[in-house]
Amino acid sequence: MTSDGVVREISSCRVCGGDRLMKYLDLGMMPLANNLAASAAEARAMQRYPMQVLYCRDCSLSQLSVVIDPRILFSKYAYRSSINQAYLGHCREMARSVRESLGLREGDLVVDIAGNDGALLSVFKDELGVRVVNVDPAENLAEIAEAAGVPTITSFWGADAAGQIVSEYGRPKLITATNVFAHVDNVRDFVAAAKECLDDDGVLMLEFPYGVDFIEHREFDTIYFEHLSYVLLRPTKRLAENLDMQVFDVQKQDIHGGSVRVFIGKTGAHEVRPSVARFLTKEKTEGYHDVAVYENWKNEIKLLIDDLVKQISSLKKDGSSIAGFAASAKGNTLLNACRFDTSTIDYIVDDTPEKVGRFSPGTGIPIVDRSVFFADPPDYLVILAWNFADEIISSTSDYGDGGGKYIIPIPAFRIVGTGEASASRSN
Ligand SMILES: [Zn+2]
Repeated sequence: MTSDGVVREISSCRVCGGDRLMKYLDLGMMPLANNLAASAAEARAMQRYPMQVLYCRDCSLSQLSVVIDPRILFSKYAYRSSINQAYLGHCREMARSVRESLGLREGDLVVDIAGNDGALLSVFKDELGVRVVNVDPAENLAEIAEAAGVPTITSFWGADAAGQIVSEYGRPKLITATNVFAHVDNVRDFVAAAKECLDDDGVLMLEFPYGVDFIEHREFDTIYFEHLSYVLLRPTKRLAENLDMQVFDVQKQDIHGGSVRVFIGKTGAHEVRPSVARFLTKEKTEGYHDVAVYENWKNEIKLLIDDLVKQISSLKKDGSSIAGFAASAKGNTLLNACRFDTSTIDYIVDDTPEKVGRFSPGTGIPIVDRSVFFADPPDYLVILAWNFADEIISSTSDYGDGGGKYIIPIPAFRIVGTGEASASRSN
């Protein structure tokens, strides 16, 4: 029943343990999004796994139906945080925001879980004067972080890493986990390890793509095998309470197509702010705690994919050339869901040196750098990394000024020119 690399199939919810799970989206068999191939043939022959999303009727967590072995998923993880300027701006905003809301002081300890190349902690160290420790399993990233002056424990997050931090550095006032919680299978152990490690009034701050935006903005392309959960406040609160902890604040963020920052402390250690009830009420009244929203969404996504195929294929048939921007995981889901290959998309432009020269999994589309793009500009550039559409459009303005057109695929097919950039999130 299981294919190579599948650790387990989900039969009960990872947050609440309930077994009333309903499948609401099935994108078919898909390759691993970050598994870039050495040749087009290898890319097309790549192993595929079922990509299905389940809804828990008890706590409202959306989750993939299978868990792929993290050693396979993350062994070729090429993405580096600090490459992305928009992300660095987000880090600076986060540092200022937590200084005010949590009253961090110089010398306090801050831990970042899966802190990648240390981008966030470098900013925290510079802006706040705090002590920092990064925990990340990727050895190449850990080396980069250490070289940037960010001490790094090369490990997945868990009780062992938490224990090591307490004995070597003391108890953190803040543990951050940005864009990692949704990648975690055993979320209970993940939060429990943070609890064991934190100071009495310490805070675990999770930031993850918000399940409401996922549905509302039709972000089906954010579904990939690294991304195990699609999270609302309701299941997060449930998880915290099961561990005798408390969600005491929630803040909305624009990054990654709409994220939330959720603050969790030990029960009674922090005053619970009105934002918590406000978010929960909004989720409930807008139907996100009910299965009907998800059943409707499935139909909307089918129509969206059909429309993308129709519109982009028709441009191609009319003789236009088409390329994509950013060989990101979400681009991979979109291209494979649309069954695009080199007969439609000539190449994908990407700024990450490790990706250039390789081939997009499943589709076999070659990945090139900007020099190829500017030497041989397409008539249309599909912005696969639509969450950074403004940044991509402004950084390729010569292309737009020369008459090149951009296609933004999510939440609906849209052609824009240079002057219409600030449209990445509008409907
Ligand atoms: Zn559940």
